[in-house]
Amino acid sequence: MKPTKLYCNLFGHNYVETKKVTNHVKEYTCKCCKKQVTTSSTGHLIELTEKRQEINSALERIYNNRLMRLQQKMISSSIY
Ligand SMILES: [Zn+2]
Repeated sequence: MKPTKLYCNLFGHNYVETKKVTNHVKEYTCKCCKKQVTTSSTGHLIELTEKRQEINSALERIYNNRLMRLQQKMISSSIY
C-alpha cells in the first residue's frame, strides 16, 4: 500500500472539487491518492466509475440545455 493511501485511510480523503455537473452533483478528486468520487442521487459521495461518468455527462448536458433555454427566455422577455 502507498503511504498516501494509508494517510487517507487514517485521516480521510482530501477531496477538491474538479467538476460541477449540476447545482447538486459535483465531481471530486482526492489531493492525496487521486481517488475520484461524485455525488450520488441520494447526496452521498460514491466512487466515480466509468458508468457514473457517463451518467454525469448526460446530466450535465441536460442541465446546461435547460440553463441555456432559461437564459434565452429571460433575454427575449427583457427585449419584448
Ligand atoms: Zn485519498
